[in-house]
Amino acid sequence: MSDHPSSYRPGRHFLQIPGPTNVPDRILRAMDRPTIDHRGPEFAALGLECLEGIKAVFQTTAGQVFIYPASGTGGWEAAIVNTLSPGDHVLMFETGHFSTLWRVVADRFGLVVDYVAGDWRHGVDPAIVESKLAADPGHAIKAVMCVHSETSTGVASRIGEVRAAMDKVGHPALLMVDAVSSLASMDLRHDEWRIDVTVAGSQKGLMLPPGLSFTAVSAKALAASKQARLPRGFWSWDDMIPQNRNGFFPYTPATNLLYGLREAIQMLVREEGLPNVFRRHARHAEATRRAVRGWGLDLVCQEPKEYSGAVTAVFLPEGFSEAAFRQLVLKEYDLSLGAGLSKLAGRVFRIGHLGSMNDLMLCGALCGVEMGLAKFGVPHRKGGVAAALEFLSS
Ligand code: PLP
Repeated sequence: MSDHPSSYRPGRHFLQIPGPTNVPDRILRAMDRPTIDHRGPEFAALGLECLEGIKAVFQTTAGQVFIYPASGTGGWEAAIVNTLSPGDHVLMFETGHFSTLWRVVADRFGLVVDYVAGDWRHGVDPAIVESKLAADPGHAIKAVMCVHSETSTGVASRIGEVRAAMDKVGHPALLMVDAVSSLASMDLRHDEWRIDVTVAGSQKGLMLPPGLSFTAVSAKALAASKQARLPRGFWSWDDMIPQNRNGFFPYTPATNLLYGLREAIQMLVREEGLPNVFRRHARHAEATRRAVRGWGLDLVCQEPKEYSGAVTAVFLPEGFSEAAFRQLVLKEYDLSLGAGLSKLAGRVFRIGHLGSMNDLMLCGALCGVEMGLAKFGVPHRKGGVAAALEFLSS
């Protein structure tokens, strides 16, 4: 018998990164269909169903959702180029890797970014939103831009409180929110929080493969787009609106991903129900944190009111490389964990618990982490998994 390592790995791979997430078989089957004429009647029905159905996921009835064949980064750009003009001032917050990347996009479009420094362990401070806007009586600031669930840190900003802070000072800036890892995993209320542009992607809570991005847009943002002077081509809402009215797109849409999206909306909104989706995610996030505390490791997120329901980021003790740890866990247990990103590289690994996930899948992942800690020689306490199990079965 050969003793060379087998390339076949029996059982299921554990994809426990914070997106792309596991795509349910049911969605894979829904996409497994012939591509159709994207200018024909069958497509129009699919387009209309998706464009209308996705609104519920954003918790909007007043807003309009645009769907792009793109990743979340495209959604950031769409939000900017449709609403702003060169030299506009915007307020952004350093909550982690993704807020930093969004800021880079804003810089590249010639926006003047007031980037409030942060420690990557806390979310946007609504008191700073209030004081910054109060100090802007001339309304030079045109947009407040926040990442809801900072996927690099597991910290969720309190968007409802950010809105309240904006209202308190009566500032007319647009509110733009990156919900790439919170849509369909955490309670994200586009209408109630009067978000002007919510940006999202297909590959996280929506349980789809990567390849679609979204901007949910308020009437105020649409009005702003009439005055905005940044050049826009691919991302133009003006081009989308007349086509979308009939279920079509101004260019070739990602037909098969839209089949998947229709199925995902059916599963999340009509079958499980969004409140249950949020509860499931919050419960898995809590179980994960209990495991981390049980191991005696540190969470990146320092504020309990700001725990993300989608992802938990964990410090390894000094001297232990997260990259080597993740490599070992992948090799030994076929479990993919999220990497530490930019400032947190080398020190932090992330457990994604969003998307199509149930208790036993989460437990399997936590077992893999606990076994990995032992095998990698990380000083830790036993009992993290036991704490999670106790919580999940209580
Ligand atoms: N914003 C957040 C919060 C993210 O987590 C990501 C990706 O993980 C992005 C933006 C960028 O999205 P994409 O990689 O789909 O372009």
